[in-house]
Amino acid sequence: MLEFNIAIIGSGVVGLSCAYYLSQFFQDILVIEKNESFGLETSSRNSEVIHSGIYYPENSLKAKFCVRGRLLLYEFCKKYDINHRKTGKLILVSNEEEEKELFNIFERGKRNGVEEIEIIDSSYIKKIEKMAKGRWAIYSKETGIIDSHGMMKKLYLLSKDRKVLFAFNHKVIKIDRVNNLYKITTSFGEKIMVKYIINASGLHADHVAEMMGIDIDKKGYRLAYYKGDYFYYTKPSCVQRLIYPIPHADLKGLGIHITIDLGGRMKVGPDVYEVKKIDYNVDLSKRDLFFEKASLLIDGLDKDALMPDMSGIRPKIKSSGIKDFIINEEGGSGLRGVVNLIGIESPGLTSSLAIGEYVANIIKGLEN
Ligand SMILES: Cc1cc2nc3c(=O)[nH]c(=O)nc-3n(C[C@H](O)[C@H](O)[C@H](O)COP(=O)(O)OP(=O)(O)OC[C@H]3O[C@@H](n4cnc5c(N)ncnc54)[C@H](O)[C@@H]3O)c2cc1C
Repeated sequence: MLEFNIAIIGSGVVGLSCAYYLSQFFQDILVIEKNESFGLETSSRNSEVIHSGIYYPENSLKAKFCVRGRLLLYEFCKKYDINHRKTGKLILVSNEEEEKELFNIFERGKRNGVEEIEIIDSSYIKKIEKMAKGRWAIYSKETGIIDSHGMMKKLYLLSKDRKVLFAFNHKVIKIDRVNNLYKITTSFGEKIMVKYIINASGLHADHVAEMMGIDIDKKGYRLAYYKGDYFYYTKPSCVQRLIYPIPHADLKGLGIHITIDLGGRMKVGPDVYEVKKIDYNVDLSKRDLFFEKASLLIDGLDKDALMPDMSGIRPKIKSSGIKDFIINEEGGSGLRGVVNLIGIESPGLTSSLAIGEYVANIIKGLEN
């Protein structure tokens, strides 16, 4: 039987951030990952946007961690030379009905503490983005893009330097409570005794919580999968900044938008639709829809230059309403020392360092 102080289940950007912060205070940390390496699921299937935090309801975890996480992320990029760029972003409105919502989002952003946002008119829009359409826009100057793989690699290496162990190709299949400890069984048949568990298993976080005997329906942890497809533009990018429409009212998605990556390639997407299983194919037949949506935002697109790209799947909390992150220490449910991270969808990449910092503080609190 192996013994560790802390087990982190999952090595996406959130599990890695937890490892990075926890290893500043604790020893004997094991990260258990079912894939052959870190960051092969949702953390490598996203827009790589460093979000400002403008959209999310005041006092929500998403608002709090996005704003704090963005600041930590820019510091981290600077300190460790991670490729990133503060591109700025425009949220456009093209008709009168949407104008009210633009002002609501702007005010929410202010209340969330988002810096460097302003409302600009159509002539300013044209001045900074020749091809962009819109009567008004929110211009967010702090929004950017990041090399998420570079970031995860650095978190992995820094954690390893602090003696965090990584068990790749090990899937957690069973978790038992044994006295005041937890016995984790992996697909290799290995048994690991730990004092603390951080469940950062992304799309599978509800099932991992279920392994601990948690009633995931009663707790509201059950996840639904919402896929998002991307198309990329085979011609030179038409824009310098990220261009978004007004988001869905329930924030299910941010609306099909236009991003650029660090190589300057322009991408359109993601859309949002429920899927029952994990399948990352992108269907060419969606080209008309993506062209139509992108053409509401910019002029001069060539439809034939849009080609299917990658896709990602959002782990969304199934219960109705606007979804927030769930980050719970389960002491109240008789599982002291277990921290479940459920529904860590967008802006999870931006929030990851703030989440890691928060989780480390929870465990520090339990030790005192
Ligand atoms: C289409 C899309 C676009 C997005 N765009 C952005 C964006 O622009 N900006 C932003 O901030 N956020 C964005 N996000 C959100 C962001 O990508 C996620 O919030 C973040 O990557 C979640 O990281 P994670 O570590 O929680 O999950 P994951 O990356 O999914 O990692 C979970 C890990 O747990 C492992 N695991 C699962 N079950 C087990 C088990 N039983 N045993 C062992 N290991 C297990 C998995 O193999 C995986 O490696 C987007 C998401 C999607 C889907």
